[in-house]
Amino acid sequence: MSEHALPERETTHRETLYVDGTWRPAAAKSTGPVINAADGSVLGMVPGGTAADVDVAVAAARRAAETWGGSSPSERADVLRALSGALTERQDEIARVISLEVGTPWKISQRVQVGLPTAVLNTFADAVTAHAWEHEVGNSLVVREPAGVVGAITPWNYPLHQLVAKLGGALAAGCPVVAKPAEVAPLSAFALADAFAEVADRLGLPAGLFNLVSGSGAEVGAAIAGHPGVDVVSFTGSTAAGAKVMSRAAANLTRVSLELGGKSANIILPDADLARAVKTGVGNAFLNSGQTCSAWTRMLVPRNQQDEVIDLARAAAERLTLGHPLDPATRLGPLASAQQRDTVLDYIRLGTQEGAELVLGGTDIPAGLDNGFYVSPTIFAEVDNSWRVAQEEIFGPVLVIIPFDTEDQAVAIANDSPYGLAGGVWSEDPGHALAVARRIRTGQVDINGAAFNPAAPFGGYKRSGLGREFGTHGIDEFTETKAVQR
Ligand code: NAD
Repeated sequence: MSEHALPERETTHRETLYVDGTWRPAAAKSTGPVINAADGSVLGMVPGGTAADVDVAVAAARRAAETWGGSSPSERADVLRALSGALTERQDEIARVISLEVGTPWKISQRVQVGLPTAVLNTFADAVTAHAWEHEVGNSLVVREPAGVVGAITPWNYPLHQLVAKLGGALAAGCPVVAKPAEVAPLSAFALADAFAEVADRLGLPAGLFNLVSGSGAEVGAAIAGHPGVDVVSFTGSTAAGAKVMSRAAANLTRVSLELGGKSANIILPDADLARAVKTGVGNAFLNSGQTCSAWTRMLVPRNQQDEVIDLARAAAERLTLGHPLDPATRLGPLASAQQRDTVLDYIRLGTQEGAELVLGGTDIPAGLDNGFYVSPTIFAEVDNSWRVAQEEIFGPVLVIIPFDTEDQAVAIANDSPYGLAGGVWSEDPGHALAVARRIRTGQVDINGAAFNPAAPFGGYKRSGLGREFGTHGIDEFTETKAVQR
């Protein structure tokens, strides 16, 4: 197979939904195309599910809850590890479809799009056996019990990772799942269902423990969010859609967990290792072409170091080779859709209109890449934090550099955002960096580029969401708490 050849047809052309332990046609038998981000061609097809499919899936999940809710932590851990193994066996196939539907460069697809979720399943397996499921408070025994059926609605940027965050936490908590993947990148969810079906057969799991209903947000997503048979709605996506999901769930007082957008600040303090901070900061901002909810898209730098930062940032971004996602030399691929590309180009025009200094990139289509949804990595400097390019999530390869005069001002700028998902702090004094990190109103802060921890809680303050995913926090999103007095 040539380097850029498409995956096998059965990997990308799906005609059935995985519901109640079997592959079955969708009620309305319609299909929707999945577009290849690298050239705009049709990469595959998936069924367009309806509210009727959601009804069948929720009913199956409710039956599965009766048995799976009584499973032991070690049985749950066995399933999570088996699923991680079954995904690992398919890792090249999955990395390839995600590279083509999302545009993620091949190596990052292997390491992050597939490697991370397989590791996450194993961290859930560790967490489920180590978790304190019961504890005593005075004369009460406090127990954590499965919350019931989880409705999972996920976005396209890290499609397998976002889904595994929900499926792993729910299975660990003793809950079945009804999942709806994003229209733009649904194919890895089907590969996950293939892997799950194989594990379910081998381990004799109840039918309906994991159900996959592809389709639109307006139809399938809304049906899940408003279904009276769903006990927790776990949503990852834009803040606007998250608010709609929350209001639909409110009709049934269904619990919601929301992982939403971000506009994270990377504060580079005057005593930081500037070269490392800027290089890592640029890499973080442009990971997956900036289509990363936690991306550090605002780089906050001491005003008297801004010129040096601009040179370092330009040099770091120029090293990110743009190209076909399956080309091993590519560091930046296309954006996931024509719509996303057009939105990002509008923001680049806006940055110039607002008065930002264009350091690199812009709206020109990168040479030789006019078929797919490519955007040049773009850096703006001398940005004021009140401008829209500093306040709104762009979700593309656009970094804004914002100068500050004092540390208090840097913290104030970082916190002057409707979002509160992530951030970075750089200082050669770790104690000082920690003190600044404590002042940042976000769910995650990394000091000096520290590694992502798949067992640590992840989630947002403010308009970045409600609740936390991963590790024991991600399990507890799907439990209820009962006090038994003795
Ligand atoms: P989106 O909100 O358009 O769609 C997300 C999912 O919600 C899709 O499956 C979509 O079909 C569905 N949906 C849309 N409208 C719906 C509705 N009214 N009811 C129910 N479901 C609906 O988001 P997207 O464009 O796919 O993803 C990008 C966004 O996701 C960005 O804002 C990004 O920051 C955010 N995101 C957040 C995290 C996090 O962990 N905080 C992680 C990844 C992405």
